[in-house]
Amino acid sequence: MSAVSVRRRELYGKLKRDVAETIISQALMLLGYSSEKNYRRIAAGVNRIAKTEHQRLIASWIENWVSEGNPGSTFLTRLLRGVSPKVRKNYLANMLASLFFRDQQIYDRMRAQYGFNPPSVMLVSPTMRCNYKCVGCYAGEYTTEDDLPPEVFDRVVTEAERIGIKFMPILGGEPFVYRPLLDVFKKHPKACF
Ligand code: SF4
Repeated sequence: MSAVSVRRRELYGKLKRDVAETIISQALMLLGYSSEKNYRRIAAGVNRIAKTEHQRLIASWIENWVSEGNPGSTFLTRLLRGVSPKVRKNYLANMLASLFFRDQQIYDRMRAQYGFNPPSVMLVSPTMRCNYKCVGCYAGEYTTEDDLPPEVFDRVVTEAERIGIKFMPILGGEPFVYRPLLDVFKKHPKACF
């Protein structure tokens, strides 16, 4: 496939995700005031539009998760009523769109180059320090000298995004004692930390 076709496919994939993100974001606004029955209707709708094996897997997981007796509906109700509309739009919608419409071109490229898919999650610990000193915990042994320099943390996140990783749980120690944390987050609005 030519470089132009690859680029075109990448742009098409990005467009699909952006449209999905907008739709999900609108749906989340409505869901904030919705009933549990509607979650199940929406999950069934998602199941109907799922085309690829990956999408079908996620859709059926969602359908099962919000079905009666399972915790999804309660979790969603609390989450959607408790978080600000901005978080719903920028974080949840982006996360769901990325999950459902993952960047197939990146996966194809990685498989061709290295023979395996990139991981879908990166756990990162910019600092091992903590403001507590619990007995037996390793965190007390670390100092600021052991922290990742902010430019290294930023680079690691940038490289992860480049290979399609969107989810980056931050481990510690206690991440909030790392002063550049929020500055690095700000530079990566599409990542879910
Ligand atoms: S990382 Fe957890 S266990 Fe360790 S000192 Fe901090 S709060 Fe305590």
